[in-house]
Amino acid sequence: MPLLDATGLVPDDWTVLDATAPLPGAATPASHIIVPLDRWLAERESLTQTNRRLGLALPGGADLDALAGDLDRFDVISISFPAFSDGRGYSTARLLRERHGFEGELRATGDVLRDQIPLMARCGFDTFEVADNHAKADWVKGFFSRSYQPAADRRTPVPALRRDRVRSRLEDKAEELNARYGELDAEDVLQAVIGREFPGRIALVSSFGAESVVLLHLVSRVEPSLPILFIDTGKLFGETKRYRDQLIAELGLTGLTVIGPDTAEERAEDPDGILWTKSTDACCDLRKVRPLARALGGYDAWISGRKVFHGGDRSGLGVFDTDGQHVKVNPLAHWSPEKIKAYMDLHDLPTHPLVFDGYLSIGCMPCTDRAVDGDPRSGRWKGQAKTECGIHRNSSLHAAE
Ligand code: SF4
Repeated sequence: MPLLDATGLVPDDWTVLDATAPLPGAATPASHIIVPLDRWLAERESLTQTNRRLGLALPGGADLDALAGDLDRFDVISISFPAFSDGRGYSTARLLRERHGFEGELRATGDVLRDQIPLMARCGFDTFEVADNHAKADWVKGFFSRSYQPAADRRTPVPALRRDRVRSRLEDKAEELNARYGELDAEDVLQAVIGREFPGRIALVSSFGAESVVLLHLVSRVEPSLPILFIDTGKLFGETKRYRDQLIAELGLTGLTVIGPDTAEERAEDPDGILWTKSTDACCDLRKVRPLARALGGYDAWISGRKVFHGGDRSGLGVFDTDGQHVKVNPLAHWSPEKIKAYMDLHDLPTHPLVFDGYLSIGCMPCTDRAVDGDPRSGRWKGQAKTECGIHRNSSLHAAE
C-alpha cells in the first residue's frame, strides 16, 4: 500500500510482521521490518542482532514509559487508528515527539481520513497509509493544500525542524566516517561501508558512464550482490544500456535494479517527451531525481562515483558526505584521471564505446555532447549554466557519476 509523505505518494518498502511471521531472508533487499509491540518485548535481543532497520507498530494509547529506553532503536513507529474517531493515536504521537524526543518517522495507519491529515501532521506524523479505495490525487491535495505544523517558534514547520535535526545527525556521521575511513583505499572503504557500517542498507548508484567501470569492478570484488540502482531516464544512449549489460555479465554483478520515471507523472508532465527542450531542471527532476528518491527510500546510505577532478560542486568532495537523508560514500573522490586509466589498464576493463568518440562524461542523449579541451563535464548540458542533474543536491535528494 502506498504512503503519503511530504514528497507525495511513495512506495512502502517496510515489511510489517505480525507476532509469528518469520523474518525475511538476510539477502532480501531493503528488508526493513516493523514488528508489533508484544513481539518486540518478547524478542528484543534477537531482533536487534538482525542488522535490519527496525520499526515498531503501536496501538494508540500504548504505554510509552516502558519503551523509553528502546526508542532510539527504531527508525519508524507506526501508530494504528482502528477507527477514524479514535483519538488515542494523536496523543501517542505527541508524547513520542514532545516527551520522549522521538526523531524517526511517525506513520499513521488504519482508518485514516484525508481530512485528518493536517491535524495528524501537527501531532508529529510524517507519513500516512493511503487506503486503496481513496483517490490518490485527493490525498496529495489534502496534504499539501493546508498550512500545518507550526513549531514552537510559530514559524518553522515541524517537519522542517525535524529534517534539520536528521541532517545534522547525518553530517556528524559523515564526519566521523571521514575521520575513520577517509584515508583508506577505495576497496577498503567499500569493505567498511558494505560489511560493517551499513550491512543490507546501502546501494551503489551507477550511470554506467565513462568512468563507472572502476567502481563496479571494485564492488564486484567486495560484494557482487550489492544492490546497484541504474536510472533509465528513457533518454539514454543505446550504447550505455549495452555497455551496462556487458559489465553486469562480465563482472558477475547480481544486484542490478533499473529505475525510471513514474508512468503517470511522465504522462502528466512530459506527454511528448520533449520537456528537456523547455526545462532541463524539470526534466531531470521527473526522470532522475524523483525516481532515485523513491528507490533510495529503503536505504541508509549510497555509493556514488563522483570525483574531485570533475570540478564545480565536486571540487570540495570528501569520501563521505550526505544528501540530507542518507550518508553518501564517494570512494573515488580523490582519484585522478590517470589513476582511473591505470586501474582500467591493470584489470583490462572495457571502455564505454562513446569514450572513443570523445564523450568523457555520459548522461542522456539530448543533453550530452563531446567534451571540450579534455574537461570531462564540459559536454553535459552544453551552453547552459546547469552542471548537475540534481541527484547530488544536499536537500532531500541525490549522484551517480
Ligand atoms: Fe532530461 Fe536531459 Fe536531464 Fe536527461 S539529462 S533527464 S534528457 S534534462
